[in-house]
Amino acid sequence: MSLRVGIVGAGVLGRLLASRLARNGQQVEVFDAAPHADAPLATGWVAAGMLSPLAELECGNHEVYTLGMRSLALWSRWLPALAQTVPFAAEGSLLLAFPQDRGSAERILQQLKHKAPDWQTPPTLSKTELHALEPALAPQLMGWPLSTEGYLHPTLAMQALWADAQQHGARAHWGCTVHATKPGQVQLEHETRPFDWVFDTRGLGARTDLPLRGVRGEIFTLHAPGVVLTRPLRLLHPRYRVYLVPRAGEHIMVGASELESEDRSPPSLRSTVELLSAAHSVIPALAEARVIAAHSHLRPALPDNLPVLQQQAGLTHINGLFRHGWLLAPALVEQAITHLAQEHAA
Ligand SMILES: Cc1cc2nc3c(=O)[nH]c(=O)nc-3n(C[C@H](O)[C@H](O)[C@H](O)COP(=O)(O)OP(=O)(O)OC[C@H]3O[C@@H](n4cnc5c(N)ncnc54)[C@H](O)[C@@H]3O)c2cc1C
Repeated sequence: MSLRVGIVGAGVLGRLLASRLARNGQQVEVFDAAPHADAPLATGWVAAGMLSPLAELECGNHEVYTLGMRSLALWSRWLPALAQTVPFAAEGSLLLAFPQDRGSAERILQQLKHKAPDWQTPPTLSKTELHALEPALAPQLMGWPLSTEGYLHPTLAMQALWADAQQHGARAHWGCTVHATKPGQVQLEHETRPFDWVFDTRGLGARTDLPLRGVRGEIFTLHAPGVVLTRPLRLLHPRYRVYLVPRAGEHIMVGASELESEDRSPPSLRSTVELLSAAHSVIPALAEARVIAAHSHLRPALPDNLPVLQQQAGLTHINGLFRHGWLLAPALVEQAITHLAQEHAA
C-alpha cells in the first residue's frame, strides 16, 4: 500500500527519509523553511562528513558506536545507488598525537576500548608505517589506525539525496515554515495537511516538542594544491579536538569547535587560530594553503547529547543528532522506516 507521508525538515535526516520512502513507493511530501533545495539552512551543509563511530566514542556512548557502524554499512550500499556521485570512503582514519601528548592520547584510546569492548586497540604505528600511509604528516607525530571509519562529501550528498527523492516522486514545499506536527498532521500557518504518517526532522525547529539546544561549531575549508591527504585525521590534543578531512578538488576541511553557544556569527579569531595552527602542525605543507571558506552552524542537541527516535501512531520524531548527523542518519532512518512498515502491516 502506498502511504501519504509528510516529512518536516530537509536536513540530512529529512532528505534521506524522503529518498528511502520514495524508493519504497510511498507518496512523499517534504516541508522546509529553506527557500529552495540548495539553500544552506540545514546544519548538514557545513559538516565535515566524518563517519567516525570509534573516535566519536570519546563524546558518545555504545549506542552511537553501534548505530554508527550500521550507518557505515548502509551508506556503502545506499550512496552508490544514487544517480549523482557522492564521494565516500570507508577505508579508515588515523588518530594522531605529538609525543608530549602521548599520555592523554593513551587515556583516550583506553576510553574508546572501555566503551567498545569488542574493539581491539591498534598498536602504535612505526614512523615508517605512518609515513607510508600519509607522507605529508609532520615527522614527529605518533599514529594509531582506526580501520572502521570513513567520510563522505556532505554538500554533494545533500544534493544527491534530494535529487534521488525527487526522481522517485517526492514533492517539496520550500519556503514553508511548519507551525506544529501532530500524529497524521502537518500544521501550517493557515491550514492543516493530513497524512498517513508524519516524520518530524526539524532539528532545532522542534524546540516546542523536545528540550533542544544549539551547539556552535566552526569549520574551515582549505584549498591545498599538491598536499596529499587520503584519509581523515584526528589530532588527540589535551585542550581541543581537531580533525582534517580530505575533499575533492584538493580541498581539506578543518574542524571543528564545539561551543555551548547559539551564536551563528562567523568563526572567532580564537577558533580560527587554534584549529588552523593545529592543522598546520599536523601537516606542515598546509602553510601555503588558502582558507577559502569559514562557516559556523548549530548542532541540534538534547541534554544528554544523544539522538532520539520517538515514535507514536502517525508521528515519528528524529532529532538530537548533535555531532553525528551524517554518522547516524542511515541507521535511525532504517529503524524509523521498519517501524512504519510494521505499523502498517499490523
Ligand atoms: C561545524 C560542524 C561540523 C560537523 N561535522 C560533522 C561530521 O563530520 N560528521 C557528522 O556525522 N556530523 C557532523 N556535524 C553534525 C551534523 O551536521 C548534524 O548532526 C546534522 O546536520 C543534523 O541534521 P538534521 O537533519 O537532524 O537537522 P538540521 O540539519 O538542523 O535540519 C533541519 C531542517 O529543518 C528545517 N526546519 C526547521 N524548522 C522548521 C520549520 N518550523 N518548518 C519547516 N522547516 C523547518 C531547517 O530549515 C532544516 O533544513 C557537524 C556539525 C557542525 C556544525
